[in-house]
Formats: sequence, structure tokens, C-alpha cells
Amino acid sequence: MPSITTQAIVLRHADYREHDRMLTLLSPSLGRIEALCRGCKRPQSPLLSASEWFTLGEYVLFTGKSRMTVSSCHVTETFYPLRSDYDRLRLATYLLSVAEAAAQPNERAVELFTLLARSLSRLTYTDRDARAVAAAFLLHFSAISGYKPRLSHCVRCGKRIPDEQIRLMDVENGGLLCDACAQGVTTAQPLLPRQALWMRDVLQRGIDKTDLPDQDAPGPLLSAYVEARLEKKLRSAGLWS
Ligand SMILES: [Zn+2]
Repeated sequence: MPSITTQAIVLRHADYREHDRMLTLLSPSLGRIEALCRGCKRPQSPLLSASEWFTLGEYVLFTGKSRMTVSSCHVTETFYPLRSDYDRLRLATYLLSVAEAAAQPNERAVELFTLLARSLSRLTYTDRDARAVAAAFLLHFSAISGYKPRLSHCVRCGKRIPDEQIRLMDVENGGLLCDACAQGVTTAQPLLPRQALWMRDVLQRGIDKTDLPDQDAPGPLLSAYVEARLEKKLRSAGLWS
């Protein structure tokens, strides 16, 4: 049987028969992959950690007639400490669900893979505010997906909005709204000037370099924004509070 080797992150798993799991993987070269992991629930299985949520590794996959099967895996990272921090775990799981909703089979996802791996690493191994890290993920995710929000000009009329007058973002159309254009727009959400500045700075310099306060990260707004673009409601209740 032909086989392929690819780096991948486990986005989810589902039980399959007594000892197997069906994995959903994100591969930089192959996008989203469904692969059967045989026997991984047996106590001594060498594939046990390869089949856990978040695991990053080099997977060898058999490409059978109807489906892929994991044949072996060299685990690089399990992000294990996430399991001991419920808050971080929930945010990290949410990032996986965003990646799963966005990735397509047989479509390269190099940037998404890198962004996800780095964000999981920040959530697991740094003291950075977890909600700010997750918000930065969503912001960069929208940029690499081709819908970076417009944060200086009105998304409808194109007029430049002075920083101190920023107060609304149109989550459906992807940018700020001026007062004149906001009339009757139902997809407008409140946005503070400092939240817009945070997004601009993080887009430009990254979460590691920004010195703006973590509490300016507009997490719920970015969730609404990304989910509107994905046309998918993900489980984010209580995530940001
Ligand atoms: Zn306008």
C-alpha cells in the first residue's frame, strides 16, 4: 500500500470500534485529513499519544482504497500541560475547532498549521494571557484566510475614521463602520478605540512584541467575526469571560 509522511496536529478524535479512533488531522501540505488509528486505545499501544487531541508529530499514513490509516507516528509535542489548566484547555480546544472548520482536504495549510502550532505552544508554555493569545490567533487567522479586518477606514464608504471616533465594527463585512454608515446595520458590534489599536499592533508586530494591555484584546468580537466568515457557529459560550 502506498504511504505518505506528513507533519500533523490532531484536531479531534472520535471513538471507532472498541480499540480504534478516527482522527481529524491538520497537515501543512495536505490540509484536513481523516485517518483511522487502529488499536490506539489498547493500553500498550505505541499509537496512544499519537491519537490524543493537540498532539503534533510526524505521521506515516497508509492511503488505502477508501480511507487513510495511521501506520506510525513520531510524536514531537503533546502540549501536555494544557490538561491541567481548564481555562487554557478550553481556549486551545476552540482554536482546534476553528482550524477544523477552515481547513479543507487536499488543500495546503502551511500558514494555518504554523499559526496553530505556535499558538498552542504559547498557551502551554508561556505566561501570556490566554485570552489575548487566543484573540491574536483569530486575528492572524483572519489575515491568512484573506479577510484581515479594515481597522482605519469605514468598510462601507471608505472614509478614514479618526482613532478617537472608532466605536463600531461590522463583523459581517470585516471592518470599522463610520456613524453615517452604521444606520440600520444589524451586524455592527461595539468596538473601543483601544481594542482597534490592539488589533492593529498585533497584526503588525505580533503578540510577542506588542506592549499594549492584554485586556484590550477583543476576544468575543473576533470570535463573532471569524465565525461569521466561516459561516459556522462554534462552541464559544463562556470562553471569554
Ligand atoms: Zn462609512
